[in-house]
Amino acid sequence: MIEISGLSKKYGSSYAIKDLNLKIEDGLIYGFLGPNGAGKSTTMNIITGYLSATSGTVTVDGHDILKEPEEAKSCIGYLPETPPLYPEMTVMEYMSFVAELKKVDKKDRSKQISDIMDMVELKEVKDKLIRSLSKGYRQRVGMAQAMISFPDIIILDEPTVGLDPKQIIEIRDLIRSLKGKHTVILSSHILSEVSAVCDKILILSKGSLVAQGTPEELEMMMQSEGELELTVKGDGEIVSDILSDMDEVISFESTGNSLKGEESGDREVGSENEPELISFSIKVKEGEEIRDRLSIRLAERNIPVYSLIKNEKTLEDIFLELTDTQEVSL
Ligand code: ADP
Ligand code: MG
Repeated sequence: MIEISGLSKKYGSSYAIKDLNLKIEDGLIYGFLGPNGAGKSTTMNIITGYLSATSGTVTVDGHDILKEPEEAKSCIGYLPETPPLYPEMTVMEYMSFVAELKKVDKKDRSKQISDIMDMVELKEVKDKLIRSLSKGYRQRVGMAQAMISFPDIIILDEPTVGLDPKQIIEIRDLIRSLKGKHTVILSSHILSEVSAVCDKILILSKGSLVAQGTPEELEMMMQSEGELELTVKGDGEIVSDILSDMDEVISFESTGNSLKGEESGDREVGSENEPELISFSIKVKEGEEIRDRLSIRLAERNIPVYSLIKNEKTLEDIFLELTDTQEVSL
């Protein structure tokens, strides 16, 4: 378990992260999701002890990262944004080097390295120089070094950046296979990736946590306040009266008129007394379904309904709203 409280990091006068409070529970896969500059890497670098915070605390399995750095760090394997690879070493030499660094018992080393290489499918390049590896293989070496000593917590900063679709699927499968045995935190600016792999999503924006929950919870959260789009033909004032009279309606606004006939080319446009099509955007209280009653009441007043649609937000909409940016891939 990782507990983060009141964590801030300042560069000059601006905050890279600001007052983060988080609990990361054992055995789940967490995703830090946010656009570039949201503070994902900064947070990860602080949790892993690579960077010091301006204020606040991080404890890893009960060990404060500042007061007991050795103990805290020994629970964590980390794949930073730029993996700390040694290009002149072979994969095998590098893995042995990391195993030594992480104080893996000598007698266990070769079995452990072999097991990890099997998991991340590195065996066929084990004698190659890291320098000569493709981006996909380098990333796997990065993952492999994070897994040495099988730490409780594995932190992966943008593990699939720069990989091709096939490699992305392989890395995702690998991350999923770690579930239960390890706590995994990964970061990404790609929503579909996080929702495909993670049990919990933490959305960061401009250094703050703006939402958290399971992918399903985040979708529900935004759908709880329903929004309807209504288009009718007729007198807008009658529609307003009907809507004002319904307790379930929080608010509504007319979103514009369009001339009758505009929607269907074969109608005659412009006859002076013809009613227009009028659209309304209606906010409805959480969990209320008013479409049946509303359409019946409109019909009772001789107002034909041209369309009545429930606006359901997707996780994409939520993400864009919360992070207030277009700079993301969906
Ligand atoms: P992310 O990983 O989500 O893209 P970062 O944690 O790398 O975001 O960065 C968060 C913010 O902190 C950004 O605005 C970035 O410019 C700033 N930042 C990060 N590192 C430094 C640094 N060494 N010096 C100054 N500003 C930094
Ligand atoms: Mg980053």
